[in-house]
Amino acid sequence: MTSQPPATPPGAPASPLGTAHPAGVRGAVRAVPAYPFTPTQVPTKLDQNESAYDFPAHLKAEAAARMLSRPWNRYPDLHAEGVAARVAALEGWDPAGVVLTPGSNLLIKLLTELAGIGQTVLTVSPTFSVYTLEAQMLGARLVSVPLNADFSLPVEGLKAALREHPPGVLYVTQPHAPTGHADTEAAVREVVEAAGDDWVVVIDEAYHQYSGTDYRALVREGAGRLSLRTFSKAWGLAGARIGYALTSPDLATQLRKLVPAFNLGVPTSSVLEVALENPGYVQERAAEVVRERERVFAALAHHPSWQLLPSRSNFYLIRTPDAGAAYRHLLAHGIVVRRQDSLPMLEGCLRVAVGTPAENDALIAAAQAFGEG
Ligand SMILES: *Cc1c(COP(=O)(O)O)cnc(C)c1O
Repeated sequence: MTSQPPATPPGAPASPLGTAHPAGVRGAVRAVPAYPFTPTQVPTKLDQNESAYDFPAHLKAEAAARMLSRPWNRYPDLHAEGVAARVAALEGWDPAGVVLTPGSNLLIKLLTELAGIGQTVLTVSPTFSVYTLEAQMLGARLVSVPLNADFSLPVEGLKAALREHPPGVLYVTQPHAPTGHADTEAAVREVVEAAGDDWVVVIDEAYHQYSGTDYRALVREGAGRLSLRTFSKAWGLAGARIGYALTSPDLATQLRKLVPAFNLGVPTSSVLEVALENPGYVQERAAEVVRERERVFAALAHHPSWQLLPSRSNFYLIRTPDAGAAYRHLLAHGIVVRRQDSLPMLEGCLRVAVGTPAENDALIAAAQAFGEG
């Protein structure tokens, strides 16, 4: 993660503020690195697992019209109850168990506040960096169990950790990030059931539309379980910032205490309403992503030195002999991807989002050119 290119170009003057921190900043915050992402301006952007397609233009226009028809001088719903009820209808969920926030990353912070501070955050390694950054900043005991060599869930290791550590919050990501691996439902169930009633169990389903997995039924079976979902990926709405939790009314009541009041404004709820009224494009696009991903895999199956690792998501890992060289080669071809080679088990790995057909063609051509060079 620290291997991303530096934010300050080499030779640029250091910040005039220097490196001193006000003494009041907690040590746990100082100790955590900044979120590991540096924006890069190039034609082909495959570094953030976004949808390659924007929210449809006619729906954007409808959302803008709706926004204009609403008062802006009034506070919105306290907890976005109106749109939460519509999300509940879409998901077949009790509205009392739906919690909406500007992006599911905020829910991860709030869940860590709810069940992690002074307690335990349990996850696997490698994992989504937000779980570990929040755990470290908020003062939770962070326990990371290494994935199995094939990237499957370390079921026995997680069960042992659930027994050995005081309860808190467990994060399971399905399909997983950054590997793209989807586990069997039996493996996920075994881990979730081992957590019993003492742990808050979060199944992060940010990419479920691509894998076809769905853990709503498992979540419904226990009051401490929660499915974390987002409009940032398959819905093509990362720029709108909307995420949500599906959980029991009891856990939702506790979680809502931590959600800032009035935190979904008129612009966001207008976009969300229009999306929920027109969900037809989502599955269609997810299916195209899967087809395109398989096309890239077929095209690069015999690459002399790069190996594409199987994925059930809208991104995949490429293992290369030298991630830095591969990253720079792609950048020289106008393609930005994400280095993952500083993470455990991901030596030499780049993470690449599935793009439009033209973007995937560019990736294939650049990869093949590397093989020749
Ligand atoms: C992209 C992603 C999310 C979504 O975060 P938002 O804040 O909703 O954009 C959540 N979890 C994982 C693992 C992700 O990769």
